[in-house]
Amino acid sequence: MRSGTGNDDKSKRIAVISSHFATHKASMASSEKEAALSAVPSDSPTIFDKIINKEIPSKVVFEDDQVLAFRDISPQAPTHILIIPKVKDGLTGLSKAEERHIDILGRLLYTAKLVAKQEGLDDGFRIVINDGPDGCQSVYHIHLHLLGGRQLNWPPG
Ligand code: 5GP
Repeated sequence: MRSGTGNDDKSKRIAVISSHFATHKASMASSEKEAALSAVPSDSPTIFDKIINKEIPSKVVFEDDQVLAFRDISPQAPTHILIIPKVKDGLTGLSKAEERHIDILGRLLYTAKLVAKQEGLDDGFRIVINDGPDGCQSVYHIHLHLLGGRQLNWPPG
């Protein structure tokens, strides 16, 4: 009997802990969505310019003369890295791509592959480019999200 009660208590505790994490995850997701929806699409400098110019700190994992890759401040997976061009050249988002951007777009994708290897994501990973309010873009300087280190779900929300 006592052990039955103990198990009930344990189940309740697990339910409370899980609901806490479910609520936490839901509020995290909604705050990110709110941040994205309140972002105004524009070609003005963004927080990423400060990161490129080392005016604010970031955890850089890869850098060359054209591209910078650094860890996302709010990781959505064990590995969550942002890959950006150092010169925006009008590429606030993918929807603004012109033919002159073909080289840098290819370089960003190739960098994603290099960084994925460097991070040991040998079982796979995901690249995401959010575009515009419907895509939940919050920073208007094109960036690839490199996500991995756990089984990712599909389809995304
Ligand atoms: P978006 O929502 O535009 O696709 O992605 C922007 C990403 O930039 C978000 O995942 C957000 O967590 C990340 N981010 C925003 N500000 C900073 C920052 O100051 N440092 C770092 N490392 N990441 C940031």
